[in-house]
Amino acid sequence: MNHETAVSKAKEIADRVLAPAAGPNDKAARFSTEAVDALSKADLLGLLLPAAIGGSALGLRSLAAVISILAEADGSVAMIYLMHSCGTATIAAAPASADVADTLREIAAGRHLSTLAFSEAGSRSHFWAPVSRARANGAGVHISAKKSWVTSAGHAQSYVVSSLAPQGAGATDSTLYLVLAGSRGLSVAGPWDGLGLRSNASAPMSLEDCAVPSAHQLTQDGAGFPAMLNTVLPMFNLGSSAVALGLCRAAVAGTAAHLKTARFDHLNQSLGEGLPTLRALLATMQIETDGLSARIDDLVDHLEHPRETTMLRVLETKAAAGDIAISVTSAAMRACGGAAFSKHMNIERLFRDSHAGAVMAPTGDVLRELIARAMLGMPLF
Ligand SMILES: Cc1cc2nc3c(=O)[nH]c(=O)nc-3n(C[C@H](O)[C@H](O)[C@H](O)COP(=O)(O)OP(=O)(O)OC[C@H]3O[C@@H](n4cnc5c(N)ncnc54)[C@H](O)[C@@H]3O)c2cc1C
Repeated sequence: MNHETAVSKAKEIADRVLAPAAGPNDKAARFSTEAVDALSKADLLGLLLPAAIGGSALGLRSLAAVISILAEADGSVAMIYLMHSCGTATIAAAPASADVADTLREIAAGRHLSTLAFSEAGSRSHFWAPVSRARANGAGVHISAKKSWVTSAGHAQSYVVSSLAPQGAGATDSTLYLVLAGSRGLSVAGPWDGLGLRSNASAPMSLEDCAVPSAHQLTQDGAGFPAMLNTVLPMFNLGSSAVALGLCRAAVAGTAAHLKTARFDHLNQSLGEGLPTLRALLATMQIETDGLSARIDDLVDHLEHPRETTMLRVLETKAAAGDIAISVTSAAMRACGGAAFSKHMNIERLFRDSHAGAVMAPTGDVLRELIARAMLGMPLF
């Protein structure tokens, strides 16, 4: 599969599977197993994995393009796919001592969905500082942890779990582990009833004395934090920005269609023909959306050709994307008036979905804090 094929497969799935079901799934807060099946059948679950194990060996450019197309149809599915990709990349980056080849082959074959279980009730959005601590036993570790939000909870075949290393001294001395679904002590700890992204099962999960064999240790002891920063953060920030872009594009398209079709019959004009204020709102939405698209292209270029400014771009892009998605979908709500407010169209779902990006860690506030600290030469953590 090349970049173009991946993009056209994503488009076909978005049109055929995601778009018709996004509204009803959102209403029912129903996880779309059909979407995951379609992504699996299209070989998109192994997009990033090496060809030697059956993957498509594509990179972050393709990942961002696929995610934005999925998000245009259904933000929840795009987020499921992003978290799967972050989990997969972390598993693939495990040291040779980890025995994860079977899992990677299952992912490449489209039979395995993964995700990240980092955030904990005790340290909230500060995912880099888990409060749980793995306890060494003869054959690996036992983990007890309260994971506060896990996308695809109860639906994924594996969870990439963070926990403080058994001997870790500092707050960020964590280790990452692969915990397979069905492991004793692992359970979904509550329902998911979010404001937005309602169809991605981002429920809490608990681990109670969950045994993890040493072969499933994905980083050296205490090296979870660098893996979060080097493997997960760039991909998550890029992907989450791509989700925002898809939501913005859908809001622009939905608003433009509404301004063309909704009419003032007494004036014999469409909304768009009649009201310059609405035309200005639409134009502003388009400017912001194209600006985000350019930012994402720039970030992809920085990730493909790393340089001094790359980490800054990683931080900036997600911070900007979270705000832009809220701004564009808010403008769409205004432009589409009571029709949007009364849920006659998909704009209010996009508006709700767009609010997740800024509060998903690293949150927009934390990103600003990190950017400014870096600019002032202060320690980041
Ligand atoms: C839809 C959804 C899906 C998710 N999926 C996953 C997942 O798959 N895996 C996972 O591990 N987690 C996941 N999360 C959790 C997410 O990444 C965050 O950890 C969570 O949203 C933080 O919420 P909180 O109430 O704990 O925030 P809090 O930490 O309580 O933050 C509250 C406010 O304080 C601000 N704040 C916090 N710290 C600082 C600071 N240092 N400086 C300035 N401002 C600060 C925040 O920006 C926020 O506005 C998901 C969350 C959502 C909403």
